[in-house]
Amino acid sequence: MKKQHNTLLSLMAVVAACAAFAANTSSARADEKDHGHSHEKKVAGPNGGRLITSVKPRLEFFVTKDRKVKITAVDDHNNVIPLAEQSVKVSGGSRFKPVRLKFEKKDGALISTKPFPEGKKLPVIVQIKTTSDSKTVTEKFYLDQNKCPECKNEEYACICDHDH
Ligand SMILES: [Zn+2]
Repeated sequence: MKKQHNTLLSLMAVVAACAAFAANTSSARADEKDHGHSHEKKVAGPNGGRLITSVKPRLEFFVTKDRKVKITAVDDHNNVIPLAEQSVKVSGGSRFKPVRLKFEKKDGALISTKPFPEGKKLPVIVQIKTTSDSKTVTEKFYLDQNKCPECKNEEYACICDHDH
């Protein structure tokens, strides 16, 4: 009887330790998120696309109805501004047959000459050089065009806090 009691106690200790561990890891994660996103509220781009905030000016990555990629420069107030010297490379699609898109300038924005490959949740790699001598900034995400039930943006441009 005594032995059983001990087992139960140690089992309870394990459960308590697990709960404490889980609580710790989740708060550590929240901290990380705060630092990564600098407390700024996420917004979608002016066309409803994904806003790339790691470059200045920001760029919006947007997929048009005919699946072409449109890159638009956006100022701090989310207004469209004409692109300057930025060079943007976009590649992605299936891992075995990645596609590199070429762009042409149109109305101050860049639009891909070909559509992005068909498929659900394909990886996208965007490489940006703001000026010819600036460092290349790389953004990676998945092109998921399902509508987010909360913010109504397509998931690749979702502005909710939840992770996908
Ligand atoms: Zn959302």
